[in-house]
Amino acid sequence: MFKEAKEIVNNSKSVYVVAHINPDGDAIGSTCAIYYGLKKLGKDVHVVMPSYSNVFEFLPGTKDAISSINDDEYDLLIALDSSDYTRLAISEDEFNRAKKVIMLDHHQISRPYGDFRYINDKKSSASEIAYLFIKYLGIEIDKDMATLLYAGIMTDTGSFNYNNTTSDTLRVVADLIDCGAESVNVCKRLNDTMKENKLKLIAKTVDNMEVFYNGKMRYSYVSFEDINNLGIHDEDSEGMTNYLRAVEGTEVAVYVRGKSDGSLKVSMRSGGNVDISKIAIEFGGGGHPRAAGYTMQDDIEIGKQKLIGAVGEML
Ligand code: 5GP
Ligand code: MN
Repeated sequence: MFKEAKEIVNNSKSVYVVAHINPDGDAIGSTCAIYYGLKKLGKDVHVVMPSYSNVFEFLPGTKDAISSINDDEYDLLIALDSSDYTRLAISEDEFNRAKKVIMLDHHQISRPYGDFRYINDKKSSASEIAYLFIKYLGIEIDKDMATLLYAGIMTDTGSFNYNNTTSDTLRVVADLIDCGAESVNVCKRLNDTMKENKLKLIAKTVDNMEVFYNGKMRYSYVSFEDINNLGIHDEDSEGMTNYLRAVEGTEVAVYVRGKSDGSLKVSMRSGGNVDISKIAIEFGGGGHPRAAGYTMQDDIEIGKQKLIGAVGEML
């Protein structure tokens, strides 16, 4: 299934690997694993990641990441976990300087781009696809790569609990454990550890929570000022939505946060009955049926009212 992609890789020397801005565990795990894999093939390869949450700093490869592409022209761009090229953590100009582009993604709705595309929304994560791609290229998965791919799959499946976790996913995970993935440490660092200020952000989020439609919708907004006062950076200010969704009876949970650039980032989770990717797309974003998001174009009050209306129509 990756035949043409393999040919492209074989014919490339300079390779850049990139995922979406504000990378999550899946974006980081998949890109850094491919970075290590292509290094083994002797490629001149780099991961491009302008910024990321420092909770991921323990993952191998992240420290090697560079913030932009300096080459005037390069052979290959491998883009992961990004359904739309405008979400990639590089500029359009950097994108256009690639001679070839390989797109590997697991989102349901996408605007495909690139010379080779593998898009499969039945796969749990970009990291599961990256695993298959690495295997297809005949690269041996070492401990670091296994840890990265494990971290990517673990985070995108909610620790193997969401319904994107298939028996195939678990077979991949089993192999990653055999390859030496540091699963216990990944869980400890990503699931069981947080900074004290993050706990205070959770408190703020709960404090600001508003409830609509008899508890079917829960909404919370935390301003950039409040986040900044807690000393929390943009990349560390996410992850609040799941707490709102956990309240029984919640069909749609929404967490809106102010960012340092003045924009408002909307993060949504669904209890399963509402396909919130439709709402996100309506407002210019995207995602999955149960996890989606967008950047709010209106000011907070107007944007909030529009969103409440859109959710109401879906309930
Ligand atoms: P999160 O709430 O974790 O930031 O995002 C959940 C999912 O929604 C992501 O995995 C991603 O697929 C999607 N998503 C979030 N924000 C955006 C956005 O601005 N544009 C698009 N296309 N998708 C987004
Ligand atoms: Mn993903």
